[in-house]
Amino acid sequence: MLYSKSYDVIVIGGGHAGTEAALAAARMGCQTLLLTHNIETLGQMSCNPAIGGIGKSHLVKEIDALGGAMALATDMAGIQFRVLNSRKGPAVRATRAQADRALYKAAIREILENQINLDIFQQAADDFIVEGERITGVITQTGIRFNAKTVVLTTGTFLGGTIHIGMQNHRGGRAGDPPSIALADRLRELPLRVGRLKTGTPPRIDAKSVDFSVMQAQPGDTPLPVMSFMGKREMHPRQVNCWITHTNEATHEIIRGGLDRSPMYTGVIEGVGPRYCPSIEDKIHRFADKNSHQIFIEPEGLSTNELYPNGISTSLPFDVQVALVRSIKGMENAHITRPGYAIEYDYFDPRDLKHTLETKVIAGLFFAGQINGTTGYEEAGAQGLLAGLNAGLQAQGKPGWYPTRDQAYLGVLVDDLITMGTKEPYRMFTSRAEYRLMLREDNADTRLTAVGRELGLIDDLRWAAFEAKQQAVELETQRLRSQWLHPGSEVTKRFTELTGEQINRECHYLDALKRPQVTYLQLAALGSTIVPDDLQAVVGEQIEINVKYAGYVDRQSDDVARLHQQEQMTLPQDFDYDAVIGLSNEVRAKLKASTPETLAQAGRIQGVTPAAVSLLLITLKKQG
Ligand code: FAD
Repeated sequence: MLYSKSYDVIVIGGGHAGTEAALAAARMGCQTLLLTHNIETLGQMSCNPAIGGIGKSHLVKEIDALGGAMALATDMAGIQFRVLNSRKGPAVRATRAQADRALYKAAIREILENQINLDIFQQAADDFIVEGERITGVITQTGIRFNAKTVVLTTGTFLGGTIHIGMQNHRGGRAGDPPSIALADRLRELPLRVGRLKTGTPPRIDAKSVDFSVMQAQPGDTPLPVMSFMGKREMHPRQVNCWITHTNEATHEIIRGGLDRSPMYTGVIEGVGPRYCPSIEDKIHRFADKNSHQIFIEPEGLSTNELYPNGISTSLPFDVQVALVRSIKGMENAHITRPGYAIEYDYFDPRDLKHTLETKVIAGLFFAGQINGTTGYEEAGAQGLLAGLNAGLQAQGKPGWYPTRDQAYLGVLVDDLITMGTKEPYRMFTSRAEYRLMLREDNADTRLTAVGRELGLIDDLRWAAFEAKQQAVELETQRLRSQWLHPGSEVTKRFTELTGEQINRECHYLDALKRPQVTYLQLAALGSTIVPDDLQAVVGEQIEINVKYAGYVDRQSDDVARLHQQEQMTLPQDFDYDAVIGLSNEVRAKLKASTPETLAQAGRIQGVTPAAVSLLLITLKKQG
């Protein structure tokens, strides 16, 4: 049966990539359908109920700066907020929130259901409609045909999913959910490179059976951080503590004793797992000299007793899981409510995608999230937004858009993926960004909201708030430049009292702010600030960072200019690498495997040397 309504964009999958993709396309005015297995699992967190953290919160703030939902949902659901690296520089500062799993899902569902231009439909997608080399629709499990100009696929860990607990395994998309088998088979018919990856989750624990008195409490920060530019502290639900405990020698002995029944160590699991989020058996094996590992005991929500023991993800047999959990301080009598498990799933080589996340082989088909080899809600959400945006732009007959590496972590993420591919689940780190002084949490709005507005992603309310902040930063910066500290004046004496700094030569306030010890709030305390009270904190932070880091940022700007030059030099998809004289066979093979779109991208492929880039440049110039 053909459904009566034809869509601009269909998004398959209602996880973190799918929800941001659907919302982005709908916000732009595209008629959008979100097709997902189960409406009850929209926005479900498959693993730990936490959003943000180092590198990841930068992505959340970028999604937010482009009008996405993740940060706002976190503000509505967060039960413990912290700023990590708060004593380090602003480039690596990161906000992390423990979320109430049920409240997070409810927030995402509320945002989705209230989004105009967006229909939601519950059913599995089993097949595509392809005409020539273009996708034109989707066929569901019961044979309903939906037509669309573009399709975004965000199926997470579900494609060909297999769940492992010890030596037992069964098919599944994640615990309690069916896998996507028909769609996985269909995708394997397409000329796309496919592989298997693996991820895992720890057993969950009943809080009634845990002795918190022997654990270390970890409260959230005061003042309470917020995640979204539009967020308010009052949105947060009740705040609670997390807890810290540790594994010990006995735990490690139990794990070693179970390795002969571990699906990972007996070769049953073939997929590669996340290096930076390893299972406890992996940690014991890889860091054999460590006799203890830290475990964060995190509440799953305000209305449940379930706890998430962060740090003991495992696929060991259930009896080993029980013993290892009970060997840990405070959990001697613990009751496991859900066993830990590992899941293996299909992912597709992201080198077969363009920067817009459209597949190179089927026009109008976009991939986002775990299917591209990434791990994490934030990485998925960011890609989802980009894919939804580009699917929408294509449906509207407009050119695609993607951020560059100096513009956003999202730019780094996509460029890394499509240039180098990935052999293990890819997660974001601040160290992946070469221009990280420019890509801070605090300036995500400045970097992206104006372009988001042009692309149709930003509503009037957010735009007005953004403009108010920008204007306040500009006017207050002007004021600080026009007010002076003269040696010996009353204001200067007050300044010295507040800061401990001497003024021997007259200088304006902005110059004084360059001194490491001087803060914006101290200058504001001298009087005459023109910033409204509710903007003092954000505007002050922005001005302070702008002033103190100006020198470093200027230095990076030269590198960025060079990058942009190379970014302008496009390499045609049918570029003949065999015709480039002097390239080694190895470099030639790497370039052919990645088919970079620009000279800059070619230079970022591992093993492609600056000399090889010069040879490409010479050939490009010769070809005119
Ligand atoms: P998902 O959130 O998986 O969403 C996929 C959606 O697609 C679901 O709604 C599903 O129902 C739907 N769907 C699938 N197939 C179809 C179909 N054919 N038709 C219709 N709908 C379909 N991340 C970390 O950062 N750290 C971790 O430690 C970690 N551990 C994990 C452990 C486990 C066991 C699992 C399952 C995931 C783990 N993750 C972890 C990964 C994290 O959950 C994902 O990165 C994130 O959820 C990916 O988002 P996504 O939108 O790509 O996919």
